[in-house]
Amino acid sequence: MPPVNANLSVAAALTLAREKYAAKNPNSFLAYQRAQAAMPGGNTRSVLHFDPFPLTMVKGVGAQLFDLDGHSYTDFVGEYSAGLFGHSNPVLKAAVHEALELGTVMASPTMLEINFAEAVRMRFPSMELLRFCNSGTEANLMAIVTAIAFTKRRKILVFREAYHGGVMVFSGGGSPINVPFDYVLADYNDTEGVAAGIRQYGDDLAAVIVEPILGAGGNIPGTREFLAALRAETERVGALLIFDEVKTSRCAAGGMQGALGIKPDLTTLGKYLGGGLPVGVFGGRKDVMQRYNHRTADAFKHAGTFNNNVCTMMAGHAALTKVFTPEVADAFAMSCEQFRMGLNDAMAKKSVPVRFTGLGSLIAIHFACKPINRPADIPPVSKTLGQLFHMECIFRSILVAARGDIFVGLAVTPEQMQSLQQAILAFVDDHSGLIEREVIAH
Ligand code: PMP
Repeated sequence: MPPVNANLSVAAALTLAREKYAAKNPNSFLAYQRAQAAMPGGNTRSVLHFDPFPLTMVKGVGAQLFDLDGHSYTDFVGEYSAGLFGHSNPVLKAAVHEALELGTVMASPTMLEINFAEAVRMRFPSMELLRFCNSGTEANLMAIVTAIAFTKRRKILVFREAYHGGVMVFSGGGSPINVPFDYVLADYNDTEGVAAGIRQYGDDLAAVIVEPILGAGGNIPGTREFLAALRAETERVGALLIFDEVKTSRCAAGGMQGALGIKPDLTTLGKYLGGGLPVGVFGGRKDVMQRYNHRTADAFKHAGTFNNNVCTMMAGHAALTKVFTPEVADAFAMSCEQFRMGLNDAMAKKSVPVRFTGLGSLIAIHFACKPINRPADIPPVSKTLGQLFHMECIFRSILVAARGDIFVGLAVTPEQMQSLQQAILAFVDDHSGLIEREVIAH
């Protein structure tokens, strides 16, 4: 196929692609219009909106999604990493059915939460004791307030461009609806800078919270040196180190903490861990988590009606012990990592400024001449090119996240991986002139 849009700017190419998209999806457009009467922006989850309007889905089977206009797509959004298992895993379906038969609101401890808690504890090295909640956001909120109450200090060190939940957003200068903790900001992968910051805040610092791979900030892995320095420096000043492994725990059997051999004081989990149902987990050091033991003096109280809901407890346990076993987790991460490295090799051979960051099944596309080790290494035009890539993938029946993330799930077949690879190569070949012009000009 001859290169398309050879002389267009990326903005013009994106406008044309959006017009084509709108023409192909009239029913999704009608649904979007209807949704706006009941929900601001027609949306109840900001990340799902993209211009001109998002696709409305009706069904998922395996790794395929079906929309309101009768199109089908291979799903590489993977529910932003929570959809690890695809849409119809028989083991998880059976687990949820069994839970529904048992009854869902018993207002008592059940054996199911013990089973699931034991499975999580066995899996992640730092999880000496843990508690369940309902989302990754809630898990991070709980970890932070735990650190503040435990240390009797107030400052929380976070990284620019990090994301720890809908009320802890640190991209683009933060969010007006962030929970007003006493934050101090540092740069991701800036080992010396953050070490100096931790020493400076010393006795005031309650915790450092970090994603071992900076997810929404560009899927940038933290270097071992950087994460090890966070461990050493927090220990030195008596602050707690919190690993937000809501996404990254799927990157190895024991999460990134297992893979790197770095043990945080507290860890948060969520997303895929509930086997496709809502879940959050916070836990870690025994002496810290024991503060939630009601038998201790001045125990912290932690509530939540659905913390131990039987559907999640059952599905999460089945997911960890029958589907995403340690062996599967490691093998899956390795094969996805080979795929990602293969993409980077292909781009290098073509000499195009396209890079795939991440690790294993968490991948993001960037348009940049130089390697990406920090968010500042991502050129601003990369975002617009990513939006064009997103549209063009849709035209090839491939769904990636609008911001350029690619989440590979367990239900994806080798043929579907191949179709993703073909879509990427076709996009790059068709737009190589435009990509080079735009990236080099910026
Ligand atoms: N932490 C990280 C690293 C995340 O990626 C997310 C979700 N994208 C969250 C926390 C929040 O999880 P949830 O959406 O379940 O609240």
